[in-house]
Amino acid sequence: MKDYRPESLYKAAGSEVDKARYPVIDMHSHNQYAESPEEIREWIQTMDEVGIEKAILLTKATGAQFDSLHAVFSQWEDRFELWCGIDYTGYETDENFTENAIEELERLHDMGAGGIGELGDKGEGLFYSTPTQAFGMHIDDPRMSPILDKAGQLNMPIHVHMAEPIWMYQEMDSTNDGLMNAYEWRLDNKAGIKSHDQMMQILENAVRDHPNTTFIAAHMANSAYDLSNLDRMLDTYPNLYSEIGARYSELSQTPRHVAAFINKHQDRIFYGTDMGRSPEMYKTTFKILETEDEHFYRHDLFGYHWSLNGFGLEDNVLQKVYRNNALKLLNQ
Ligand SMILES: [Zn+2]
Repeated sequence: MKDYRPESLYKAAGSEVDKARYPVIDMHSHNQYAESPEEIREWIQTMDEVGIEKAILLTKATGAQFDSLHAVFSQWEDRFELWCGIDYTGYETDENFTENAIEELERLHDMGAGGIGELGDKGEGLFYSTPTQAFGMHIDDPRMSPILDKAGQLNMPIHVHMAEPIWMYQEMDSTNDGLMNAYEWRLDNKAGIKSHDQMMQILENAVRDHPNTTFIAAHMANSAYDLSNLDRMLDTYPNLYSEIGARYSELSQTPRHVAAFINKHQDRIFYGTDMGRSPEMYKTTFKILETEDEHFYRHDLFGYHWSLNGFGLEDNVLQKVYRNNALKLLNQ
């Protein structure tokens, strides 16, 4: 099975989409995709070809690491915006942790960090951010509360990756619907890890308790299997947004359901990628969002054996998801 690479026989699989129908702001990308000025120039050339106006780079970095990224990318600040991490140093031992983290956040904000992210917690604590990982501390922890408030005061949205797709938590057996990918990212074998439901509750606690802070639930809150909870949270909390990065394969299994969801929340969903910077990657995301093509494969991009299906979003919705929603947030 691991070498199985079927090719779609269906006429309905359609053809390539070479360029986005409207200009795009990518709300989920990473600086690691280009490390030298030559690579950054190559990336910008791809962005021009496929129609990406700007990419938000979720550096997860603080301190000297953020400073050196800033020194490189600030030459292209019309094309890239850097977001930063939170400095968790001393979170278990230092009673000044919160104060110190806020001081560093203010410094990063003054340097030009436009938001915070990607924070990440798969159930064992906040482990994306350099230089320190905060295992055991979740985003709704009282130690985090003043930091989340400060982010709101500074108009810095918080982009947070919570949990993982549900099949990573399930048994790795012949009934696991996402087995081919789930096995590699499995969480079912981690003792004491919080469940998917518990992680969604942790996210909700933070969003509910900090109404003046904007949160972006990365990867559609890792809830492609059941969007009803995210649907309810978006209805309940105007400070919550979400984005599609790196969940195209998972979402494209239920294209009518997802298109209805995006239509309903068309002012609160962002385009994102989180899958490198190849032209083929960008083109695949456009095909999924723009067309009603069915049963096509992109084996190089996704670890599943599933075929893909387009959402066929309407023009006005596409324009919001591609760019206008991001502009509203970024220009606050
Ligand atoms: Zn990411």
